[in-house]
Amino acid sequence: MIEIEKIEVDDRDSLKFIIKNTFPAFVNAIRRIILLDVPTIAIEDVIMIENTTAIFDEFIAHRLGLIPLNSEIDDLFYQSECPSCEGKGCNMCTVSLTLTQETDRNHEKMVYSRDLDPLDHRIYPIQDEIPIMKMGRDQRLILEAIARFGTGREHAKWQPVGTLFFKFMPKIKINPKAKFNEKVLKSCPKQNFNVSGKKVEVNNVLDGICDECITNGFEEGDVEVTYDRNTIIFELESTGALIPENIVLKASEILDKKIDDFIEKFQQVMYEES
Ligand SMILES: [Zn+2]
Repeated sequence: MIEIEKIEVDDRDSLKFIIKNTFPAFVNAIRRIILLDVPTIAIEDVIMIENTTAIFDEFIAHRLGLIPLNSEIDDLFYQSECPSCEGKGCNMCTVSLTLTQETDRNHEKMVYSRDLDPLDHRIYPIQDEIPIMKMGRDQRLILEAIARFGTGREHAKWQPVGTLFFKFMPKIKINPKAKFNEKVLKSCPKQNFNVSGKKVEVNNVLDGICDECITNGFEEGDVEVTYDRNTIIFELESTGALIPENIVLKASEILDKKIDDFIEKFQQVMYEES
């Protein structure tokens, strides 16, 4: 049976946990679904009303697309599945944000993500201080940005994560008669080993194994590092669009649906057609 152990959760930011009694293919399926199929909201179309700045419309639109927006809502339809507009785009499947900025003859200014004004107050930029562009003197920028749900399969801007990876649990075996270099082991930032007097034990291995400690902290052959492929450390960093735990839960639900779909189709073909 699978066991989960929580290591670190940071509110809107990152999540680190251990999955025990599992295997790499299963964890990799979840990882790939997170990258490709977990939907978030991002700006897809920009209607440029006025742009007298030095930056091309397309550049601005591209930058707007990359700003993570709060996607923790469940009453916005996926555009292609929208029951009211059949994919054309309406207020049940898209949301607008406006941007109106002007500079006078004497001042320049930076335009930030916080300057986007959402029509639906729940769909706002997660970070306030993402720079969009610098405006020169006496310039105007007026636009309407239209955001919608999408997935990493369409474009990477919809991916819910920045970093996402898993690694196998390291296991360190120390020869009981091993001689060690206390100075090396104690100065290591990863603190793989705990030294007290003449004794040395394994301390923390979750942040990776330090090569320096293994090669210079001990004499050759006194420590052995192996990796347990059935105990996996899973780590992800959210873009902020979704809460980290929800990213994993949504990916698991999608995997579950894919399997249900497979079972149904398989049974249809195998039992009903013969
Ligand atoms: Zn619609």
